[in-house]
Amino acid sequence: MGAEEDRGKKDHSEKKGVKKQEEEQEELHKLGEMRERLIRGLEIHGTEKKVLKAMLRVPRHIFVPEYAKRGAYIDTPLDIGFGQTISAPHMVAIMCDLLELSEGLKVLEIGAGSGYNAAVMGELVGRSGHVYTVERIEPLVNFARENLKKAGYENVTVLLEDGSVGYSRCAPYDRIVVTCAAPDIPEPLLEQLKPGGIMVIPVGEYVQELIRIKKDNEGNIHKEKRGGVVFVPLIGKYGF
Ligand code: SAM
Repeated sequence: MGAEEDRGKKDHSEKKGVKKQEEEQEELHKLGEMRERLIRGLEIHGTEKKVLKAMLRVPRHIFVPEYAKRGAYIDTPLDIGFGQTISAPHMVAIMCDLLELSEGLKVLEIGAGSGYNAAVMGELVGRSGHVYTVERIEPLVNFARENLKKAGYENVTVLLEDGSVGYSRCAPYDRIVVTCAAPDIPEPLLEQLKPGGIMVIPVGEYVQELIRIKKDNEGNIHKEKRGGVVFVPLIGKYGF
């Protein structure tokens, strides 16, 4: 092969590489615009500004399977395989709002799924805080870990465990959130919540109610009902 022909081939593949990069940039720009539109739409729920800001920073398209990417910025739950879903953005917003998350808090999530909700909470607790998220389906543990790594979250740890018993090794927690519906509030989760802490959990089988629990400084439990919801079931020792 002559030097001239060689250079021609090199130029061609460089041009192809630049074109691909431009297309990827354009795609990212479009996804960013769709994300902004979605988050602006969530303002009607009266969600706190800092939660919306956190959601603006998390690229939800990284947390959905390839075939569902186009739907990443529609306010709907999406299939992530194994009969499980990534929750709808408005539900993530509502739960994060109820949790009153702030910098430095230690959070336990039951039901990592895609890792998206954990990433939003990771934004809200910042580098001085930490999110432990527990998942019982191993391929989803790997999926969540990969997604969180791609999106650059180092303050979130994904664990393969039955989360219905909590995660006693790192207890107590400032906040606990359960992203699957429990038959009742699991006792170990109440025990692993710090005095002054908040837990949010959907309870019920067919008709589920979102419950917010506050543990006061004396350890007393206060529950409030926050409306009807639909979640996949919590499976495990304290689950279905
Ligand atoms: N938070 C997730 C996200 O952002 O993608 C969505 C969670 S999905 C609605 C509920 C998850 O809870 C499922 O992935 C399911 O496998 C998990 N799950 C159910 N029972 C569990 C248990 N005992 N321990 C841990 N995870 C559980």
